Amino acid sequence: MAIHSYVPEDPLEETELPEIVFVGRSNVGKSSLIKAITRGGADVRVGKRPGVTRWPVFHELDGELVLVDMPGFGFMSGVPRRHQERVKDLIVEYLETKDNILFAVHVVDAKALPEIAERWEKRGEIPIDREMFQFLNEQGLDPIVAANKIDKIKPVEFEEHMDAVVEALGLFPPWRQWLDTVFPVSAKTGEGLVEFLEAMQEKVKKAGHPEFARFFRTR
Ligand code: GDP
Repeated sequence: MAIHSYVPEDPLEETELPEIVFVGRSNVGKSSLIKAITRGGADVRVGKRPGVTRWPVFHELDGELVLVDMPGFGFMSGVPRRHQERVKDLIVEYLETKDNILFAVHVVDAKALPEIAERWEKRGEIPIDREMFQFLNEQGLDPIVAANKIDKIKPVEFEEHMDAVVEALGLFPPWRQWLDTVFPVSAKTGEGLVEFLEAMQEKVKKAGHPEFARFFRTR
């Protein structure tokens, strides 16, 4: 598979190719996951240059399908609030405007999410990931969740922890009710990637593009 990774000049205009968008807070491992599922083929460094981080990065597969690495939303230390708001607006505009998005992958840091969500709730605010997950559903983007960094969760705490992850997203536990929506993965160790890739194959088929299943082969 040939992969062309680049930062588009105007992401809203750029391409009419079908897209799969990856959204998530900063540092959850979006680019690591894209790198893992493309077996290192995607050059995820292109988005890490200073000054371009608030733009989506396009990873074009065989000139047929684009994996879009959206800029991270939410708090990032050292980044002014003004900038965070702009990023959020850009993401919302992008998801509302583009009509060539097949579906969305919402990437979360499974280890950190329950605690972060609890902090928001204590302040009387809706956790930003719950807001985003609801927005993706409302937009008809049929999101699946990649619950990343599961290597950081103790095995004995895994079930309970995953219940807290789905709750943070506004879904009812037990999390195993959501096995077709929520996929525990580790971009670092590769755990769970087979199930996630199989889900990606199913999703592109359901979206009317069985030919794209080849991009998500499990081996
Ligand atoms: P992005 O900002 O969402 O694109 O996140 P990155 O892919 O740049 O990853 C952020 C940090 O998390 C990096 O230091 C990665 O090495 C680390 N990371 C990504 N995925 C995993 C994972 O599955 N497990 C662990 N332990 N660390 C991860």
